[in-house]
Amino acid sequence: MKTIIEPFKIKSVEPIYFTTLEQRKKILFDAFYNPFLIKAQDVIIDLLTDSGTSAMSSAQWAGIMLGDESYAGSNSFFHFEKTIQDITGLPIVIPTHQGRASEKILFSVIGALGKYIVSNTLFDTTRANIEASGAQGIDLLCAEGKIPSTPAPFKGNMDVDAFRNFIKEKGAENIPLCIVTVTNNSGGGQPVSMQNIREVRAVCDEYKIPMFIDACRFAENCYFIKLREKEFEHVPVHAIVGELFSYADGCTMSAKKDAFANIGGFIALRNEELAMQCRNLLIITEGFPTYGGLAGRDLEAIAIGLKEVMDENYLQYRIRTTEYLTEKLAAAGVPVMQPAGGHAVYLDAKAFLNHIPVTQYPGQALVAALYLAGGIRSCEIGSLMFGKYDENGNLVEAMMELVRLAIPRRVYTQSHIDYVAEVIIEVYNNRHQIKGLEVTYEAPALRHFTARLKEVDFLFLYN
Ligand SMILES: *Cc1c(COP(=O)(O)O)cnc(C)c1O
Repeated sequence: MKTIIEPFKIKSVEPIYFTTLEQRKKILFDAFYNPFLIKAQDVIIDLLTDSGTSAMSSAQWAGIMLGDESYAGSNSFFHFEKTIQDITGLPIVIPTHQGRASEKILFSVIGALGKYIVSNTLFDTTRANIEASGAQGIDLLCAEGKIPSTPAPFKGNMDVDAFRNFIKEKGAENIPLCIVTVTNNSGGGQPVSMQNIREVRAVCDEYKIPMFIDACRFAENCYFIKLREKEFEHVPVHAIVGELFSYADGCTMSAKKDAFANIGGFIALRNEELAMQCRNLLIITEGFPTYGGLAGRDLEAIAIGLKEVMDENYLQYRIRTTEYLTEKLAAAGVPVMQPAGGHAVYLDAKAFLNHIPVTQYPGQALVAALYLAGGIRSCEIGSLMFGKYDENGNLVEAMMELVRLAIPRRVYTQSHIDYVAEVIIEVYNNRHQIKGLEVTYEAPALRHFTARLKEVDFLFLYN
């Protein structure tokens, strides 16, 4: 088989600024070993997130010029609305400025103290908005999804038996919504099978619980269904997408992911009464229902991006990118999550830096090492992000210590990815020189964004 090439030509470029090792040492020190505190210009390859970092197409940029900025009833809104109706089959479309705004509105309406929102895995903003409403968020992920080293085709699936048991325990009347995240971002970008969606739908029908989809990566998920679920081998992705949404009562979406936009989101749904309540909140927090916190030009770019993302040449290249990087790393013995997710590659920092105890944040230490060695910016998903303290002030460890390398859409070429692999392998071969970190400042909530750290004294490691 020949190389799967980038299915685009480059019309406009922006420079990468190079730094030396000596410069990066100072930058990292000045940023307190926290990649969120490094200036973007000081980064060579930026894999912090795939959110809002996509390259837009020439068609999207042309759409930006066509954007209709009328306050009410703009052409761009009707283009946006019709595109989403056509793709999802959901009749009511409410624009928002990004995914979490959709979540804030939806859960303010349906969440309340004593209620449970059930999911395969809730993304952190989704959970935060559920909890802000007083409700509790419940993750019921399948067993294979919890083990990074064990390959399985659909590690994002929901545990249907656990869902049924949970309903029996808490009562269907206390579960206003089940929301399935496709692909499962917090669980490594792993897909959910159509079979699983059908089973979850059947349980929801049985107990009259509405089912929504967190649709941020719907196209990537549906391409995995095509590759891995025999029944869909010859089905076009747009038809798989149509079937996926046919089981849903609604969805929330961040257009910063699979719509190739730099900002935007929406809620789409069938229930007119729920839509009315959402729109009432929208008007207070986001704006009039035909723009919802966005400019007309954004609505236009999103509508075009949503169609482009279902191009199978694009999806093949997209999924191949993470697979390619994972293969190279695995071949060099680097501990990496398998199989690759859709939007990111995850390193297992606990195995990578097994000389650093979890109390010294091996994930963050690896993030720092990748920046030092090659100017690569990545993100810790481990005990710095999720860790809590017990009543004695001891760290309660996260389930896993991962480092996420999120791949922006259409931004980097194969040689950029080759460079990333080379840097990671070099760091792996010199891993014993990497020191653990300690926190010197932290905020009371979401500490990873602003935390300050320093290297621990090397001698402590052997005490
Ligand atoms: C990014 C994301 C969100 C939130 O979207 P924002 O646009 O960042 O507010 C919600 N769910 C999932 C699965 C996401 O990846």
